[in-house]
Amino acid sequence: MANYYNKDLYKILNLQFDASLEEIKTSYRKLVRLYHPDISNSIENTEKFKEIQEAYEILSDKEKRQKYDILHGYYRQKIKRDFEQKEKKNKYDTFIKSAQKKAKKDESFSHSINEAIDNLFYGKKTSKKQQPTAINGDDINIDLNITCFEALNGTNRKVNIIHTQPCPNCEGRKFINGTTCKMCNASGEISSQKKINVKIPKGVTTGSKVRIKKEGNKGLNGGKDGDLYLIISVEKNPYIEFDGLNILINLPVTPFEAALGADITIPAYDGKINIKIPSMTSSGQKLKLTGQGIENKSKSKRGDIIVTTIIKFPDKLSEKEIELYNQLKDTASYDIRKDFNNAK
Ligand SMILES: [Zn+2]
Repeated sequence: MANYYNKDLYKILNLQFDASLEEIKTSYRKLVRLYHPDISNSIENTEKFKEIQEAYEILSDKEKRQKYDILHGYYRQKIKRDFEQKEKKNKYDTFIKSAQKKAKKDESFSHSINEAIDNLFYGKKTSKKQQPTAINGDDINIDLNITCFEALNGTNRKVNIIHTQPCPNCEGRKFINGTTCKMCNASGEISSQKKINVKIPKGVTTGSKVRIKKEGNKGLNGGKDGDLYLIISVEKNPYIEFDGLNILINLPVTPFEAALGADITIPAYDGKINIKIPSMTSSGQKLKLTGQGIENKSKSKRGDIIVTTIIKFPDKLSEKEIELYNQLKDTASYDIRKDFNNAK
């Protein structure tokens, strides 16, 4: 087995070094099917098959894999943690810049840079000898705008998440032997995009946080994956507003609906409801629908819907309509401004 510690076992199994056990198993099964001696027993194939078997034996065994990872410098989780300590990060950057300058002048110096970094930041011994530490992945926050109707009814959305992880090439160091890492462009991190479908539950409001478990950055060496949080903003709308669990609706009605009363469908929590506008409803009149607002299940509370009527005219009236309004005007027997005129 000692031989195999000199090989890149992940490459043999077509894997990234942070592959999960499940991925290792899947890749192994695929390769075994390709190179199995029953299929072709050429010398080359037999060798490859043996190599695959041995790689799998090491990588599928937690202890053996860990030992292999340590020997091969896959200890980026520790580097990441250290780098997150800003002070050290700055110190590192300054150090590496001056080291690079020197390295240009003195080639032999560049060979000792990695060792010097290890001494400076990780103690005298290199971290290769240390046990990998489980590091939890960071949570990711994404702002998400939704409409009032989506807030009331819940919705499904596709969101684009950008995951970041320490660069596997330089293991977060940004430099390899004094030269900038090409894989991560000396940022120490690599990003990957992922689109996922998320479900926004009904009843969210601006500032609500919707948690999608384990869709944050990946945990390392057995550390937990971070979560994804969707920070909700409900887009403004002239007709619906939320006040805690109450739904405030500005409802346009025609003058004749206001006069005669009407049955009107309005948006409500989880769907729509029909309401009755009584006859002779004035503009600005409020109708309260108790217990029809947003539900807070954890507190077993439910808000109300408060409808405010707004008598509204179309942009233009037809001749016929004007004629009818004139008739109304001529037959009106009331003085609507009696109280107004008597007010002191
Ligand atoms: Zn890199």
